[in-house]
Amino acid sequence: MKKFSTLFDASVFASSKCSYWKFSTSDDYYDKISLPEIAKVHDQESIADEDSYYVVADSGAIGFCEDEDTDIDWLFLVRDNLDESLPLTYVAKTVNKFCSNCGRAVKSDARFCTDCGSKLG
Ligand SMILES: [Zn+2]
Repeated sequence: MKKFSTLFDASVFASSKCSYWKFSTSDDYYDKISLPEIAKVHDQESIADEDSYYVVADSGAIGFCEDEDTDIDWLFLVRDNLDESLPLTYVAKTVNKFCSNCGRAVKSDARFCTDCGSKLG
């Protein structure tokens, strides 16, 4: 799974993996050409929150994580793979930082320890 800061970047990457998506909460379908266009408009309209991010699954499905939350809200599902089991949380692949206070392993881009809440350097 890869992480992106804008829906446009996520959609461009997803386009390299599949060609048709279905919007998760409706029956709208999007193809390789229309999805990045929609994403661009979406990015312009939505106020960018730097703590929120988009993720792209290996299948090309696109999800959204709000405010550093690791719960994934899957927005676009791959049309030919609608019953795939997508993860509900985003887990960073590499853990290479540790909390200086309690020693817990934290994500490399985390700003606060998820265990004790200490600010991370
Ligand atoms: Zn800690």
